[in-house]
Amino acid sequence: MKAAYLMDTVGNKQARGEIAMIKVVVPRMALRVLDRAIQAHGAAGVCDDFPMAMMWAHSRTIRLADGPDEVHREAIAKLELQRVGSTT
Ligand SMILES: Cc1cc2nc3c(=O)[nH]c(=O)nc-3n(C[C@H](O)[C@H](O)[C@H](O)COP(=O)(O)OP(=O)(O)OC[C@H]3O[C@@H](n4cnc5c(N)ncnc54)[C@H](O)[C@@H]3O)c2cc1C
Repeated sequence: MKAAYLMDTVGNKQARGEIAMIKVVVPRMALRVLDRAIQAHGAAGVCDDFPMAMMWAHSRTIRLADGPDEVHREAIAKLELQRVGSTT
C-alpha cells in the first residue's frame, strides 16, 4: 500500500526502495500461502486436479523475472547505505 501510494504521489523513482521491497516480499509471501495450501491438501495439492502446484510454479518465476531477489536486495542495501551515509 505504501509503495503504491508513493508511486502515485511522488513517482516511481522516489519510490524505488519501496518497489524493490515489495518485489522481494510479495512473491515470497504468495509462495508461503500456496505452500501451506498444498500442505493442507496433502498429495492432492500437487496433482493436476487442483491448480495449486501450477500456481506455485507460476509464482516462483516472479522471484526471477524482472531481476532475482538478490538484485532487489542489493538495490535496497545501496539505498539504505546512502540514507545512513547522508545522516552521519
Ligand atoms: C516468467 C519470466 C518472464 C520474464 N520476462 C522477461 C521480460 O519480459 N523481459 C526481459 O528482459 N526478461 C524477462 N525475463 C528474464 C528475467 O529478467 C531473468 O530470468 C532474470 O533477470 C534472471 O536472469 P537469469 O535467468 O539470466 O539468471 P542469472 O542472472 O543467471 O541469475 C541466476 C541466479 O544468480 C543469482 N544472482 C544473479 N545476479 C545476482 C547479483 N547481482 N547478486 C547476487 N546474486 C545474483 C541469483 O540467485 C539468481 O537467481 C523473464 C523471466 C521469467 C522467468
